[in-house]
Amino acid sequence: MADLEELYREIILDHYRNPRNRGELEPPATRTEGFNPLCGDEIVLSLLVEADRIVDVKIAGSGCSISQSSGSLMSAAIKGKTVEEARALIGTFKQMLSLGDNDEVASDAEPAPINLRSLGELAALQGVAKFPVRIKCATLSWNTLAQGLDESGN
Ligand code: ZN
Repeated sequence: MADLEELYREIILDHYRNPRNRGELEPPATRTEGFNPLCGDEIVLSLLVEADRIVDVKIAGSGCSISQSSGSLMSAAIKGKTVEEARALIGTFKQMLSLGDNDEVASDAEPAPINLRSLGELAALQGVAKFPVRIKCATLSWNTLAQGLDESGN
């Protein structure tokens, strides 16, 4: 278990020190800002959606290692995915952090079991669930993504 925690810590630090998809996109990409006042984290998400697919994504902003590595991991996970797949991933990610307020899933749908394997490197953030004060750091980029998808008309 210690080895796995060490691996997860390395993944988080790697994405914090070498963030993927760093920067901003020009219009017609949408630009969505997210803030976590509890910690002072900021995420600026640029999304380019074409034909229901996220063809490009950039992340800017600043904050703690959890918020910024989560943004980097999120950007790598959703790039090239369809809007539907990205929305499903938002739900799975929040489920991993034991959040019961996932309103992305229709109430009449069977609650899908969490498939940690489907999360890939995102599973590195599951340890955050043990620290409730940090959950908002980890979910900031995902909430910003949900908002960005809404604003891009998807
Ligand atoms: Zn934070």
